[in-house]
Amino acid sequence: MSISAAAEPAAKTQTLTERLNEALASQPAESPLDYRDTCDNCSTPASAVFEFPVAEILLCGHHTRLHLESLMANNPTCFWVRPEELWNLNGIQSAVQA
Ligand SMILES: [Zn+2]
Repeated sequence: MSISAAAEPAAKTQTLTERLNEALASQPAESPLDYRDTCDNCSTPASAVFEFPVAEILLCGHHTRLHLESLMANNPTCFWVRPEELWNLNGIQSAVQA
């Protein structure tokens, strides 16, 4: 008897946009960042924070857009992004429209 262990790839049902929209809808409107929080890449004011088991990464809007895909691919335990900073992504529901 042969056992074929064809491991199913993890279902990727959600697109990046869907994941972000879901997160943006449930994240607090108020930024957890304060004026002293700066981008880990360029030290301009941070607009996003990504938490991983080993580290917390603060990023400005520019570097958030630059690294967003790889950050999300690494499944942050939680994150907060200023919705306006995601203007470059189609289909993002911006929380600015009150
Ligand atoms: Zn930056």
